[in-house]
Amino acid sequence: LTAASRPPPGSARKAAAPMSDAALAAAVRAAIAVHPEGLEAGPSTLLTAVKEAHPDDFTGVGIQKFKKLLSKVKAQIKEEEEAARIEAAKPKVGSKENCPGRHGLKRFLTNHSSYCCDTCRCYLPEGAPMWGCRICDWDVCEGRCHPAGTTLSDLRADLSGLETRVEALASQSAPDVKTRLALVEAEVHKLEKNLDNAVVADLVKFSALRITEDDARKQKKALIADSEALLAKIEGTFAKLQLSEVEA
Ligand SMILES: [Zn+2]
Ligand SMILES: [Zn+2]
Repeated sequence: LTAASRPPPGSARKAAAPMSDAALAAAVRAAIAVHPEGLEAGPSTLLTAVKEAHPDDFTGVGIQKFKKLLSKVKAQIKEEEEAARIEAAKPKVGSKENCPGRHGLKRFLTNHSSYCCDTCRCYLPEGAPMWGCRICDWDVCEGRCHPAGTTLSDLRADLSGLETRVEALASQSAPDVKTRLALVEAEVHKLEKNLDNAVVADLVKFSALRITEDDARKQKKALIADSEALLAKIEGTFAKLQLSEVEA
């Protein structure tokens, strides 16, 4: 045997166990997918293509048998295309799980009190957790419509949302700044309570990334420290506001 005519390793075993009809159909499908004429390609050109790709498996397949197989595969592909067309033509609607555009919902805290849940139509106060898509403007309330399932990244997102709000309020001089700051302060206390109540084993279980209990414990500790720092900052802002009122 020359190198060129020697059967490739494993071919003897393959010949003993012929390809199943499903495997033959899959090979035909693959040939149609890469053929420039696609579904319009004729049986003899496709048979040549599959014989080239699978020299051992299609040796016993004659043109008549192949034609039958091919018409089955083509009918299947057309059926699937029709199903996909119907699916694509359906009106796109949002749900509790996803937005109309299927982008996936991200958790956020509302930054004003005019958010309305798109599935249960309830209005949410400022600072309430929601799951939304900004592209579709689709928002779902947490708790009633979207499951909560606290994770470290949720807690981190809650905290950075609160940090941003404190930052924004610290640079304002509107008459209701103190009231709004007090609201944020109450939410930081709520977050601290959530942090205290968060069970390390659950934080590990719900984490999207694989983390150890030790990692979770450290991250939880860091979050508690950061929320305490934020409370101190809020106190400092209150003191400054008090001072500017006295000066005014
Ligand atoms: Zn809702
Ligand atoms: Zn979307």
